Amino acid sequence: TPRVFSGIKPSGGLTLGNYLGAIKRFVGMQGEMETIYCVVDLHAITVWQDPAELANATREVAAGYLAAGLDPTQSILFNQSQVAGHAELGWVFNCVARVGWMNRMTQFKDKAGTNAEKVSLGLYAYPSLMAADILLYHATHVPVGEDQKQHVELTRDIAAKFNHDFGTAFFPITEPVIDGPATRVMNLRDGTRKMSKSGESDMERINMTDDADTIAKKFKKAKTDPAALPDTLDGLAGRPEARNLVDIYAALDDSTPEAVIAAYQGAGWGRFKPALADLAVAKLAPISQEMSRLMNDPAEIDRILAQGAARARQIAEPILKQTYDIVGFLRS
Ligand code: ATP
Ligand code: MG
Repeated sequence: TPRVFSGIKPSGGLTLGNYLGAIKRFVGMQGEMETIYCVVDLHAITVWQDPAELANATREVAAGYLAAGLDPTQSILFNQSQVAGHAELGWVFNCVARVGWMNRMTQFKDKAGTNAEKVSLGLYAYPSLMAADILLYHATHVPVGEDQKQHVELTRDIAAKFNHDFGTAFFPITEPVIDGPATRVMNLRDGTRKMSKSGESDMERINMTDDADTIAKKFKKAKTDPAALPDTLDGLAGRPEARNLVDIYAALDDSTPEAVIAAYQGAGWGRFKPALADLAVAKLAPISQEMSRLMNDPAEIDRILAQGAARARQIAEPILKQTYDIVGFLRS
């Protein structure tokens, strides 16, 4: 049976990239398939997280999911560290994955930068834990942004190698789901880098909790070229910042880049940017209001996460037990 799994790290405040590339699409899959969504706190600590901020960010990511329409009675929503099977299966997969595979991961190279000797071992092993997150539930579909494609492909490689090594068909070969106009929302200051929670400057991203003035200011200051919007989408070739703003508009408006260009052909940034800011505020303000309402009742968020974790464990435990049997671990 088809089953969806995906996650978001509580490594900072949620961005417009997380909303359009992940949360909005996750909510859209709800009801069509069984859906399991996680706040992946084990992944967050691959880089240093202040403990109090980690707890707060975990609740904020949960609030983001809920405020955007995730229904905790339909979907399973929980934080990763409450289900021990993630770490347990992650270890088994550390012994299946090859060091050479990890060395090819571009996200590790980006995040480690020039300091690869000093980053945590966890950051290096991260994709193997991500494979465990997905396969612990035998998930068949993983909606992610474009930046996670390589990790989902690695998950397929790990499943295939496990199946081959142990002569089984136990783990499914998962499909990445990367669709829609906003699978890679770019940084507002540099159209060649993606927007990230953990990016250096707050001006390079829109946060889901930014107020209307901040959103307007950030779009106003967003880097663009001097040319007006073209008559066709082809006219955006080689203009990454312009293309990004058009894609963001399309995704927020449930439209297409073609339709946005048709509506705004010939418009200058002085017209397009305020229209984009108004649209973003119209879509994000109700969500951020609901997020702050939810954040006023942390006990309720914790209760939802604990209930989700209990449901997740029910699916995960038999799969982990069977994995241990296949590997040959004794248990009474
Ligand atoms: P960090 O900088 O800490 O890695 P992040 O913003 O990249 O944070 P993640 O928690 O790593 O967020 O990713 C959560 C989900 O959001 C993933 O599915 C990822 O592909 C998606 N995502 C992240 N950034 C973008 C973006 N700029 N555009 C579209 N999707 C994105
Ligand atoms: Mg990321």
